[in-house]
Amino acid sequence: PNKTRPGAQRISVCVRKRPLTRTECKRGETDVLTTPSEECVIVHESKEAVDLTQYILKHRFYFDQVFGEESSNEEVYQRTAYPLVQHMLNGGKATCFAYGQTGAGKTHTMLGSPVRPGLYALAVRDIFAHLSTTHMNSPLPVYVSFFEIYCGQLYDLLDHRKRLFAREDGLKVVHIVGLRDVRVDSVSSLMEVISQGTEVRTQGVSGVNPLSSRSHALLQIQLRDANQKIAGRMWFVDLAGSERASDTKEDRQSRMEGAEINQSLLALKECIRSLDQEQSHTPFRQSKLTQVLKDSFVGDSMTCMIANISPGHLATENTLNTLRYADRVK
Ligand code: ADP
Ligand code: MG
Repeated sequence: PNKTRPGAQRISVCVRKRPLTRTECKRGETDVLTTPSEECVIVHESKEAVDLTQYILKHRFYFDQVFGEESSNEEVYQRTAYPLVQHMLNGGKATCFAYGQTGAGKTHTMLGSPVRPGLYALAVRDIFAHLSTTHMNSPLPVYVSFFEIYCGQLYDLLDHRKRLFAREDGLKVVHIVGLRDVRVDSVSSLMEVISQGTEVRTQGVSGVNPLSSRSHALLQIQLRDANQKIAGRMWFVDLAGSERASDTKEDRQSRMEGAEINQSLLALKECIRSLDQEQSHTPFRQSKLTQVLKDSFVGDSMTCMIANISPGHLATENTLNTLRYADRVK
């Protein structure tokens, strides 16, 4: 039985364009993206003709929602994660992904900043607001866990990067053994927990690429009832940078990271697509990411993907790749 609320879409795919950063402006980068409507984004690609004159190729894409650079985190939240939060509060499962190349705005969307809180904080704000009206005397406890997947391995961001293992039980339910759950009772206590985890995430190991761009960060929010049974579950996934590692320039470690990321993003696309095709087989075993999120690809789960894109002309290639990926998830 499909318990998803009528009118609510099971999968929505959205695009968010960020403004040019100050550094990009200083470098003289130009903005190659226009958003003529709430569903359309156009990439204006500059090409060279045979006679060496320049011409512009327009690539037009349509999505459930397209957010221009003027959109705030609150507006993005209202039109992406909000219906998922409602679904979760009704006992459902929901997953929200931020996809895109490094620097495109994934973490800005998910985590935000103290003055511009992102989806994590906005969702939890609404969860507590709901619980305080419906369960005034004894609000259901809210638990969060936060971990990352780097090169196919799990590390607990709330427990000193402790290595974790995913196990499938006899009923084919995937458990993350030893994952730390922290009970939160307000938005500020959630943000405190997350900022500790984020600090652990960005410290990482030394290297050219910050580790945070090479790993997926998964925040899980659980609602539990009086018997500690799960009464609603939501995932926010800040995915690893989608840019392709160049095979020639990179060292062995970076090539391995790149291959792992490509594999998991491909598997993710297939798993989300299979949500719409009831009887088909979900290839969740193809990556650690999709294995851990197995629950999100079955039953009455709701999924939203926010593809973040950079406006600068130097990013055109990656931007087109991101839009093509998002287009295929639909
Ligand atoms: P990612 O997590 O995808 O690597 P970030 O979220 O760290 O990218 O964003 C890169 C930079 O761009 C940061 O300095 C961030 O503050 C800025 N930025 C991203 N999205 C926006 C936005 N919508 N509005 C303003 N600044 C943004
Ligand atoms: Mg980031």
